[in-house]
Amino acid sequence: MSVALGFGSNLGDRKKNLEVALNKIEGLGNTALVKVSPFYSTRPVGQTGQDWFLNAAALIETGMTPQELMKALLMIEQEMGRERVTKWGPRLIDLDILFFGQKVIEENNLTVPHPYLSQRRFVLLPLNDIAPEWVHPVLKQTPEEMLARLPEEGQEAFRL
Ligand code: ATP
Ligand code: CA
Ligand code: CA
Repeated sequence: MSVALGFGSNLGDRKKNLEVALNKIEGLGNTALVKVSPFYSTRPVGQTGQDWFLNAAALIETGMTPQELMKALLMIEQEMGRERVTKWGPRLIDLDILFFGQKVIEENNLTVPHPYLSQRRFVLLPLNDIAPEWVHPVLKQTPEEMLARLPEEGQEAFRL
C-alpha cells in the first residue's frame, strides 16, 4: 500500500532528527522509502510560543497494516527519545500517518487520513511535493486544492 508520512521536529538538531527518523523508516521490515519531500521551516501552529519546526513528508510502500505501522512509528519516536510533555508542545520528533492509500480509518488510536491535514500548510506543502495526485477520500480534494483554501498568514513555511 502507498502511504504518506508526516515528519516534524522543533527540538535539538531538527534536520538531523528528520534524517534519523527517515533512516529508521527505511530500515523497517516490509517497507520501502519511495520519495522524500524537501524540508520546510515552519511557524508553530496551535502553541505559538515555541521554536519553529522543520517539517517534511515521505511516501512509503508498505505491507504493514495501519495499526502495525502506527505502532512502529510510536516505537521510533520513543527510541529517539521523544517525551510527551504538553499537547502540541515542543518535540524532538513527530511521526504521523497522513494517508494510507484511499483508506478511511476511525479507530480510538488512529484516524486516517490525518484529521488536521486539510488545515495545515506545514503538512500540505510537503505532501503536495510527494503526492500531488492523491485525492482525499472524504474531502475529494488534492493537496493543492486544500492548500488553496488556507491563508498563508500565521502558517508561514519556507522551503530549505
Ligand atoms: P496532531 O494529531 O494534532 O498532529 P500530535 O501529533 O502532537 O497531534 P501526538 O501526541 O503525537 O499528537 O499523538 C497522539 C496520538 O495520536 C498517538 O498516540 C496516536 O495513537 C494518535 N493518532 C491518531 N491518528 C493518528 C495518525 N493518523 N497519525 C499519527 N498518530 C495518530
Ligand atoms: Ca502531529
Ligand atoms: Ca503525532
